[in-house]
Amino acid sequence: MSEQKNEEITLNYIGRVNSPYKEKFAIPRQPGLVSAARGSITLLSTANNEELVRGIEQFSHLWLIFVFHGTQQQGWKPLVRPPRLGGNKKIGVLATRSTFRPNPVGMSVVKLEHVEFTHKQLLIHISGLDLLDQTPVLDIKPYLPYSDNIDCARAGFAQSEPDRLLHVVFSSQAETDINKFQKKYTDLSIFIEQVLSQDPRPAYKKKQIDEKIYGMSLYDLNILWRISLTDEHVIEVLSINSAKL
Ligand code: SAM
Repeated sequence: MSEQKNEEITLNYIGRVNSPYKEKFAIPRQPGLVSAARGSITLLSTANNEELVRGIEQFSHLWLIFVFHGTQQQGWKPLVRPPRLGGNKKIGVLATRSTFRPNPVGMSVVKLEHVEFTHKQLLIHISGLDLLDQTPVLDIKPYLPYSDNIDCARAGFAQSEPDRLLHVVFSSQAETDINKFQKKYTDLSIFIEQVLSQDPRPAYKKKQIDEKIYGMSLYDLNILWRISLTDEHVIEVLSINSAKL
């Protein structure tokens, strides 16, 4: 018997995300965990039309359906190791929010800030996103609390928001750097603090003495930080530099 193939469909993306997260490292694992993350969606081609968003500002939050474009070439496996289970236990891909899926499609609820239409370009400003820069957006739908919010929902190993394990402090150099960039980037120190308090390190690094100096990119900035040498529950931000130098 010949193998039956699933039918293919073609989808065109309607926009791209402009995100402060320029690389995967340090992006929060779900939307809303870093409320100070601000970005936008550039609507493209036939979707770049004000009519498509008429009435959208009545909604505080939106569902974004998007493509995991940064990992889609890496394929997928039926079993994955969710970071919430310490990176050891395997579980079915469809029981997780892994980026490595049979179809590389993700969904995130983000806060709608405002809609802008200038120079014939439609932009939807959002916050709380968990998306890589330039993520292709397939669809946008309003979040409906009466249906999408299920109070009694069970969520196994991910019932509640991950603990904020780490306290974040800024070195005097980092404080000086923040002052330099805070005009350009509103709430920069809050944004950095929220991102780092999630402890973006891979699970195995959290189990050992870690003296590494890490770098992460937010906007066009390089941020250097490390685990405090005196307290493993504290992250120290060392410096913030423009990547454009
Ligand atoms: N909220 C979405 C969902 O449930 O479908 C995404 C959850 S997924 C666990 C979140 C992670 O996806 C982020 O931490 C980031 O590393 C990764 N990510 C975000 N945008 C991506 C993209 N365009 N391509 C590949 N990975 C991406």
